[in-house]
Amino acid sequence: MAPRTFDLPASVDHLVIGAGFAGLGTAIKLAESGEDDFLVIEKDGGIGGTWRANTYPGAACDVPSQLYSFSFAPNPTWSMSFSPQPEIETYLLHVAEESGTLDRFAFGTELTDARWDESDQRWHVTTNRGEIVAKTLISGSGGLSEPRMPDVDGIENFQGEVFHSARWNHDVDLNGKRVAVIGTGASSIQIVPSIQPDVEHLDVYQRTAPYVLARNDRPYRALEKLLFKHVPGVQRAYRTGIYWARELYVPGFVWNPKLATPAKKMALANLAKGIKDPQLRAKVTPNYQIGCKRILISNTYYPALAADNVDLVTDPILKVTGSAVITTDGVERPIDVLIVATGFQTTEQPIAAHIHGRDGHSLRDVWAEHGMASYKGTTTRGFPNLFQIVGANTGLGHSSMVFMIESQLAYIVDALRTMKEQDIAVLEPHQSAQDEWNNDLQRRMRRTVWSAGGCSSWYLDAHGKNTTLWPRATFTFRRLLARFDADNYDLEPAHITQGADA
Ligand code: NAP
Repeated sequence: MAPRTFDLPASVDHLVIGAGFAGLGTAIKLAESGEDDFLVIEKDGGIGGTWRANTYPGAACDVPSQLYSFSFAPNPTWSMSFSPQPEIETYLLHVAEESGTLDRFAFGTELTDARWDESDQRWHVTTNRGEIVAKTLISGSGGLSEPRMPDVDGIENFQGEVFHSARWNHDVDLNGKRVAVIGTGASSIQIVPSIQPDVEHLDVYQRTAPYVLARNDRPYRALEKLLFKHVPGVQRAYRTGIYWARELYVPGFVWNPKLATPAKKMALANLAKGIKDPQLRAKVTPNYQIGCKRILISNTYYPALAADNVDLVTDPILKVTGSAVITTDGVERPIDVLIVATGFQTTEQPIAAHIHGRDGHSLRDVWAEHGMASYKGTTTRGFPNLFQIVGANTGLGHSSMVFMIESQLAYIVDALRTMKEQDIAVLEPHQSAQDEWNNDLQRRMRRTVWSAGGCSSWYLDAHGKNTTLWPRATFTFRRLLARFDADNYDLEPAHITQGADA
């Protein structure tokens, strides 16, 4: 799809940031609810968000697509139970086209600054393509959008090709090359088996071994696709079944990690099946509780590690030179290409530095001392009429983020309806409601596997506080956000129209 460019309007009621699942879902729900005056700005060139940005070999979803898709836009043509990235990107574009909202998306448009102006009760937003004034700012900028480069000494001096998994350089031919991959997270375990057959040699640098379950993936049969398309309820039944199966992980994550013992046994069986060499097996056996870091799924990762042209390196990286990686044991491993699969900036959302609230402070300033904290992961004291989708403590380790996004959309749409019905110009959560919400989350967090599971992960911020994950059942999140709770907000009417006699 060619990116659309058009002059930005000077003002809109609602300015939405990002064209991934969150931004697209917002556009659709705003249009459905009659809030037609909105614009979606997206710095990239099209629809898709993370599913447009992550094009590395093997990129695919590890949540089944029956669940990892909008409930209001089922897709009967998924080819596999776990969809590959190109299908998800195509799905999102198709949903956008069908929704009739595409003409409200301004691509190649990046928010550089947003400031709340008390005098006109509006957000004043600066983009690379001009200024926009908006009543509300709805951020769907994503929790996993900005790559995090590793703090490895000398990486900038490497003379070969170096790129992050989320910025894959498709111009680099890996055939016959000596390649290193740093990291063994969800991205790496998809990349490694995809490139292993082509490269001359592959070094995989592992800091912490992940738990890897078997990937029960399969192509959908023609009959299933026919049923999805023509028999009402069949696809929904699949979705519901997957939802509840996934929800079974919650007790093991948040109440008692012992409940996750069956999952641990399955992961260790998958390891035993994939790797026969006892030394390699020992190296990739995790030493913390399952679920503490994201549980990965793959049938091909362990066999790829066991291949003759792959070395799993567990000695810490000392530095990178112009042509090699050197580990702390003094071993130098020459390479042609360095692939950095070290994840994303999660606990410090990059957009937070650009959004300035009531007193001029940015979200980043406000969160600097105690970490990200919002009310219901959606609204934040000091930032009137700002809604964040996939905000603080809304992430999941086990199920579909699309479920969480839709829960937040219902809340936001109800908030906008309330504003309209009650002639409210400004809403902002009470500090007490926000504190109570976060105190409760952090109290629940203490006994979760993410806090007590004996690992460090991207779920935790620099202070060791989990500001990313939701520590309860996902249906509880949905229930708590089903209605906009005006009682927990300061609500202001519009100022008297400027210029009128007061
Ligand atoms: P990640 O899970 O954060 O993994 C980063 C990896 O890099 C970890 O193994 C980490 O080791 C390692 N690392 C970081 N800095 C390092 C350093 N200085 N030296 C050596 N190793 C270093 O990142 P990701 O794999 O890109 O995945 C991020 C998230 O994206 C996932 O958790 C998931 O939510 C999402 N994702 C989803 C899918 C999907 O299928 N739906 C696919 C890909 C990604 P430590 O473990 O020791 O920190």
